[in-house]
Amino acid sequence: MQKRNDDIDRRSRVIKKGRRGDGPVVYWMSREQRLADNWALLWAQQEALSRERGLQVIYCYDPLHCCPTLRHASFVLQGLAELQQRLSSYNIGFFLLEGEPVESIASHLGQHDCHLLATDFSPLRNKRRLLEQLCERLALPICEIDSHNIIPAWVVSGKKEYGAYTIRPKINRLLPDYLTDFPELRTHPYQAASAGKPIAVSRLAARAENLSAAELCWLTSGETAAQRAMSTVLHSLEDYAQNRNDPTKDAQSGMSPYLHFGQLAPQRLAWEVSHSSLSQEARECYLEELIVRRELADNFCLYEPSYDSFAGFPDWARKSLDEHRDDIRDYRYSLEEFEQAQTHELLWNSCQLDLVRRGKLHGYLRMYWAKKILEWSAGPEEALTYAIALNDTYSIDGSDPNGYAGIAWAIGGVHDRAWRERSVYGKIRYMNEAGCRRKFDVDRYVEKANMPLC
Ligand code: FAD
Repeated sequence: MQKRNDDIDRRSRVIKKGRRGDGPVVYWMSREQRLADNWALLWAQQEALSRERGLQVIYCYDPLHCCPTLRHASFVLQGLAELQQRLSSYNIGFFLLEGEPVESIASHLGQHDCHLLATDFSPLRNKRRLLEQLCERLALPICEIDSHNIIPAWVVSGKKEYGAYTIRPKINRLLPDYLTDFPELRTHPYQAASAGKPIAVSRLAARAENLSAAELCWLTSGETAAQRAMSTVLHSLEDYAQNRNDPTKDAQSGMSPYLHFGQLAPQRLAWEVSHSSLSQEARECYLEELIVRRELADNFCLYEPSYDSFAGFPDWARKSLDEHRDDIRDYRYSLEEFEQAQTHELLWNSCQLDLVRRGKLHGYLRMYWAKKILEWSAGPEEALTYAIALNDTYSIDGSDPNGYAGIAWAIGGVHDRAWRERSVYGKIRYMNEAGCRRKFDVDRYVEKANMPLC
């Protein structure tokens, strides 16, 4: 019998015990849409090898949740089309399931008399609810594997952390042990059924609810593109510490779309950066964002059920925002006015235009963009709803724990502290255009945001 690899096993947890079927081991892929460096796929293969079974990957195409717009749907489906071919060359079956997820997964597992179900970890509500429903519905064992966090989210901390300063020591203590290289996936020796037909990318993408958020001409989807982008980025991060907050310089890595859809493993990126020839300052600064900030966002969504509502803000922030509910707002805009970039301010409108056209806003401007929505909305609940709706619709990396934590930081003081009190914001940290002008060339950014893209 195949010896088990502890490094794979410790990334998993049993969600439900049960009776194993006689068919293949099935991996329900959701957040980690890749073949390489995927702990969940490695775990499923290890399980299949030890039981001498075939291995299948299923992906549930549920446009409402995975892909609200044409932009997201095309990106996901193009990536899956590449993945389907790669899986086939490893003798691993692949099925794209359509329809209501619980129904279609249960029916697939029943038809194939599946041995066991392995799945990706996600702290977000939709995935957790689906898992609960599957636990009630299925008799077979279900395991969850965290391939997104370098240290599984439930291992690094068992509670909601106050901020980077409380999670950082916990991460740093475990990181030398968990930041390892990945074992290789093997060509699978046992046969499992596969769907056979290629994914109809355009036909399925056209089912997205919102077709107006167009495909992105500047970004290529898929694991190969993600690996290529990573190799390029490793040589361009030297100025990350100095320039990452300047939207006129290309100092950020741009890796978030690949990380969000799991086309690249955060652990692979962290491993390569750690072993790169970048200066210590560049490495440390980048890994702080990639590991500490990103894993803090997962921690927030895992342990704060109200991660996307006012109730999820810290006590001091809710109290302070409550005290400023009746403050006069100099400007008030509807969701449509925000969406169409029709505010009085050229910088904000350029950010919104950038988000809509390019599908991604620079990290520094994301903060500014969200804070102005707080300043120009009727109240914090409305601001939060608008910011989440716009971010999840237009940002290619939207609907991500990083987005929910980032917006909650900007509007609700999550992972931040109280600042000097002022109108509307209360004690929430304030940002204004004058501050942006001190940091970077605002006019140059406005010009750039309005230029043709491709
Ligand atoms: P880089 O600066 O190159 O960083 C590398 C990686 O580190 C990122 O890809 C990301 O995984 C992680 N990271 C960097 N900054 C943060 C951060 N502040 N919090 C958590 N992780 C971070 N990120 C998303 O992935 N999706 C979103 O929808 C999203 N919405 C945001 C909304 C607001 C209002 C704010 C303030 C932040 C948001 N962020 C979001 C976090 C951050 O701005 C982006 O991760 C980053 O700008 C992505 O670009 P990059 O890959 O070039 O980042």
